[in-house]
Amino acid sequence: MKLVIDDVRCKGCNLCVMVCPYHIFQEGRRPNRRGVFVPELDRPERCTNCRLSQLYKRRLCGVCQTICPDQAIKWVPEAKHEPHKVVIEY
Ligand code: SF4
Ligand code: SF4
Repeated sequence: MKLVIDDVRCKGCNLCVMVCPYHIFQEGRRPNRRGVFVPELDRPERCTNCRLSQLYKRRLCGVCQTICPDQAIKWVPEAKHEPHKVVIEY
């Protein structure tokens, strides 16, 4: 699975930046077409959900999604020929 931010819903509040234990969300540096600084993702393949949610058939962390006031964070399956990136950090 891969982590995506819906840049139409996101309002750039950066709550996700504050809560992720892996610091996957970084404050946005450039405004999008609506003038919103959507956070950037730093190696999202480190996310617990990206790595393990399919194996365990459930969501494992999801703090960012729970705290996001605009339901802008979700996980989607990789496209058919897209590589499945997984990174484990200790
Ligand atoms: S689910 Fe947890 S580890 Fe993954 S991006 Fe959200 S807060 Fe970070
Ligand atoms: S918590 Fe949601 S609305 Fe706020 S910056 Fe993150 S993705 Fe955007």
